[in-house]
Amino acid sequence: MKIAEYIDALPSDMVYCSAAINKEYMVQMADEHFYHFLGKTVGICMADCIHPDLREEFRSAFDSLEPGKSVRILTAMKGREESFQQVDLTISDNRHTVNGVPVWELTIYNLFTIEEKYLQASDDANKYRAFLSMYQEYLFDYDVEQDSIAVFRYVGIKSTILVKCSLKEFRESVSAMYPRKSFQEELEVFCQHLLSAQENFSCDLRGPIPRHKTIMGLFHIEGKVIYKHNNQRMVLGILRMLDQKAEDATPYYATAEGKDSFTGLLNKRACAEYVAERLASDREIHYMAMIDIDNFKNINDTYGHMYGDKVIGQVASIINSTMNGRGIVGRFGGDEFFIFTNWINTEMQLRAVLTSIRKQVQSTFENREESCKVTLSIGISKAPTNGITYDELFKKADKCLYLAKFKGKNRFVIYEEDKHGDLVEEGQSIRHTMNPLEKAEYLADVVADIGIRLFSEGVDPMEEIMDQIRSAFEIDGVRIYRAGQGEPIYISGDYQPVPDMRSFIVGDELTKLLNQPHYLMASHITNLEGVNREFFELLRGSRIEGMVCFCYQDKNGVNLYFFYEAFNHRFRWSESDKNFLLTASKLMANVL
Ligand code: GH3
Ligand code: MG
Repeated sequence: MKIAEYIDALPSDMVYCSAAINKEYMVQMADEHFYHFLGKTVGICMADCIHPDLREEFRSAFDSLEPGKSVRILTAMKGREESFQQVDLTISDNRHTVNGVPVWELTIYNLFTIEEKYLQASDDANKYRAFLSMYQEYLFDYDVEQDSIAVFRYVGIKSTILVKCSLKEFRESVSAMYPRKSFQEELEVFCQHLLSAQENFSCDLRGPIPRHKTIMGLFHIEGKVIYKHNNQRMVLGILRMLDQKAEDATPYYATAEGKDSFTGLLNKRACAEYVAERLASDREIHYMAMIDIDNFKNINDTYGHMYGDKVIGQVASIINSTMNGRGIVGRFGGDEFFIFTNWINTEMQLRAVLTSIRKQVQSTFENREESCKVTLSIGISKAPTNGITYDELFKKADKCLYLAKFKGKNRFVIYEEDKHGDLVEEGQSIRHTMNPLEKAEYLADVVADIGIRLFSEGVDPMEEIMDQIRSAFEIDGVRIYRAGQGEPIYISGDYQPVPDMRSFIVGDELTKLLNQPHYLMASHITNLEGVNREFFELLRGSRIEGMVCFCYQDKNGVNLYFFYEAFNHRFRWSESDKNFLLTASKLMANVL
């Protein structure tokens, strides 16, 4: 075929062409699309091809072009059918020559056909989207050079991206969600297919789509490689769900039943099963954390059950978003939460994560109108150091949680064999097992016990007794003063700082504040603001929020003051709490 015939045979809708012209605008060489567009191959003067009205503009753009630069104009060029077409024309001085003659290069886009092509392409895209939306399949693409995998599906003609991340993140997050060994192997095969970017491949994957734990099942995957315009490889494929409800494919923790309906977090059984599977399949470092909201009953009592629910929801979402898929988060009912992760490797990282959770929780509620104090106590154990089964780890984490409560709450305790080893075999924490009636019986028993010890051992066990009171009554601090002495004679709890009571105790001023013959109670210290400002400021300076104070005489008839206090949170002193504390104070006064 002759060149002229070939050129004639080209489609007439030129999109792009290029040419080189000399100083007199004469075409020195051009591509076939250019010749085809003009309908001739020789003696072409570019200026003559431009619409007469725009010719001057073209000439002046060309003549004033500086060496090495380029200029772009929108103009109109006459095509083979003698009609003018709007074109986007760029003239570049690349300092090239043709047969020793300097030339300027032209690139020309036909705006009309570009628009047409664009519309045609977008029609095509819409057509394929509509086809895809009729499938219930998940689709994925993996850009090999960019290392970016996306899983998506079409709903209507819009794609919804379910996951978009690097292959490493994809692999880690799916394998963390589903530790079953067979799944890990299948996942590895799939990832290898993506990395090696073979022409066509197929494999099976029994498991979840990452971060979409409800989408779970047996997938059959088919993939193929395409090359993008820049020759980079992209793996495309379909995840075809074979059997969504396949019993053996879906572990309990990946089903809707495995979730706490209020927070969407995993429930206790789901957490336990997940941990058991995970621990059976690897020996990596895992941390388990048990988290319990401090004095949650008071939050319910003070602000109402609905507000309590809100607190639970917020705490759940703070823990969940901080963990951000790096491990599992559960709610064990009530105000108790659970974390299990292999993403944290060092105790320093662990402390940073837990501190971040605690700070976010505190500040979320502090800044509210209600200005409610919400703090967390946390107990932590670590696999494989502290155990390799769920039960071992849970027992130790739970014991540490109990210790965190015992030590005054709002803190975390990390299990250490040397320090806490003996404690694990003791009974379950009191908190977990008691209803109000049992608790009253328990407190009566504690107080009776205190009486017996004081009568048989005198003041020797006083410090132990005060710790015992703090733990049994779940209060943060106990102080005992003797009239005439500014310093406490006994103190237990983490006072920061210890309030300086001299002005009230030395001259026995405190007796004047007691509104009953021998006690003063403030479920919140703001109640004392009107009673005595100085006293109120003193307590506030030590971050004491609630207190009850009893006054009894020692065996020499000197006044003793017993303070029982709550730090940084409201404390509702129940009538029975008060009576038991009153009895305990009277018993202590007898030996002091
Ligand atoms: P501690 O510092 O020792 O943890 O004291 P606490 O008051 O938080 O005691 P505990 O954790 O034992 O009490 C949990 C309370 O949470 C008991 C129950 O009344 C309340 N609760 C349990 N589930 C819910 C719930 O879904 N919503 C609300 N608002 N309260 C709940
Ligand atoms: Mg609690």
